[in-house]
Amino acid sequence: MQSTGLLKQILIMSKIIIRNPTTNAILKEIEEDNKEKIHNKFLLAKQAFEEFKHTGLSYRLQIIKSFQSKLSEKKDFLAKILSQEMGKPFTQALSEITALEVRINFFLENVPLEMATKEIKLSNTSVNEKISYEPLGIIANISAWNYPYFVGGNVFIPALLCGNCVLYKASEYTLLTGLEIAKIFAETELLPNSFQIIIGGSNAGTDLLNEDIDGVFFTGSYQTGKKIAQKVANKMIPLQLELGGKCPAYIHKDVLISHAATSTAEGAFYNNGQSCCAVERIYVHKEIYDNFLKEFVKSVQSFELGDPLQPNIFLGPLSRKKQISYLNDQLIDALDKGAKLIFGLPPNTKKESARGYFFSPRVLSGVNHKMKLMREETFGPIIGIQKVDDEKEALEKMQDTEYGLTASVYTKDGAIAKAILEELKTGTVYWNVSDRISPHLPWSGRKHSGIGTTLSLEGIRVFCKSKAWHCLPNPP
Ligand code: NAD
Repeated sequence: MQSTGLLKQILIMSKIIIRNPTTNAILKEIEEDNKEKIHNKFLLAKQAFEEFKHTGLSYRLQIIKSFQSKLSEKKDFLAKILSQEMGKPFTQALSEITALEVRINFFLENVPLEMATKEIKLSNTSVNEKISYEPLGIIANISAWNYPYFVGGNVFIPALLCGNCVLYKASEYTLLTGLEIAKIFAETELLPNSFQIIIGGSNAGTDLLNEDIDGVFFTGSYQTGKKIAQKVANKMIPLQLELGGKCPAYIHKDVLISHAATSTAEGAFYNNGQSCCAVERIYVHKEIYDNFLKEFVKSVQSFELGDPLQPNIFLGPLSRKKQISYLNDQLIDALDKGAKLIFGLPPNTKKESARGYFFSPRVLSGVNHKMKLMREETFGPIIGIQKVDDEKEALEKMQDTEYGLTASVYTKDGAIAKAILEELKTGTVYWNVSDRISPHLPWSGRKHSGIGTTLSLEGIRVFCKSKAWHCLPNPP
């Protein structure tokens, strides 16, 4: 009897239960890949790579164009799946897919230029020099759930275009989306096993890293990133880590307050604050502090919370149930240390998450850096707004963090913006905008926000190894 119970438990443990965060209903149960299955997928990828690396770029461009047009055809269907499995408002899910189509255009245009062999013109030697580019091999693409099309696509699109095979470990929280992505590739003429999905959570991720892979491209938290870096250190392979953020914004006294408030409120609450580059801390010049708070709250009041499938909804439920207690803890800590809740419900308001994983937005004033809210990644719809005396204090506060992803400054004065933004140790800086990503610009973190780059020309090169050629065609 006991052993049957144990067997049942093992079977249950190997399934991923996907729930709809809006209703808590089970959407699907999917069996997780075990070690053996992952090894098998790796062997198939290795075999495929021997053929895939010799395919021409024009073939691979064709495949990605085909992927792009199928993605476009199914956009509404795919956005609905994403919305159902992670609570992202349908309109925001649609925008994410549309933006991936645009990013794909960037890669289609630029991969051929970046991968082309570069002949070096030299007049002082008879040795010809050139640089050629080769794929890395088998890529482990371990992905976060908050923007699965973005963070996955930033890796698997250029990786495949450059001739790599991809083992895509979709997040367990957006597995249905991951499976749809794999299905779309299967509908193209892509060489079988060049792109495979790995199904599972942290165990599957660990098992994947145990394989003889040639590169790791990870998006997720600093805590997991650190484990991954330690795990793959001995492999001596390229490793990219796109990690968390605690992105600050400074509002100078000369701004049009309504613009700065609307822009930072959207930056803080878009995707329910579950963005690596969400505005997570706001510092406001003392002369406009009170007016800014009023305008900011007005903006947040306009965000409708509810069923993410409805067109007017700006805030759906949180994607993960466990985040509710994490956010309440940050809220209680801030209130205990003197913060004032100027918008939103008190902590642990049970009725708001009675059915799904809803957590309504909260705005706090009177915050300081003793509070977790101003120091630890929040990744949810709470924002702290702190008063500062001047830009010197703003810069000090903005720098007071372990993270280094993005930062924004709102001012009419370009010299003030430049002076602050140049000093900041972040991969991206914004002037009068925030929470923005462009395929033309490198996306990278500093400090605990990670290492390596996706997007831009740099984000293409990382999927290739360069080879230096010294050739003497006419030896004596
Ligand atoms: P996470 O670290 O919990 O998980 C990320 C991925 O790693 C998942 O696929 C997970 O299954 C896998 N994983 C977990 N433990 C593992 C292990 N020991 N070995 C191998 N794989 C493992 O992060 P998350 O909750 O999915 O994502 C949220 C985090 O991602 C936030 O910190 C956010 O800021 C960050 N993020 C960063 C960027 C960026 O571009 N910098 C973009 C999106 C999200």
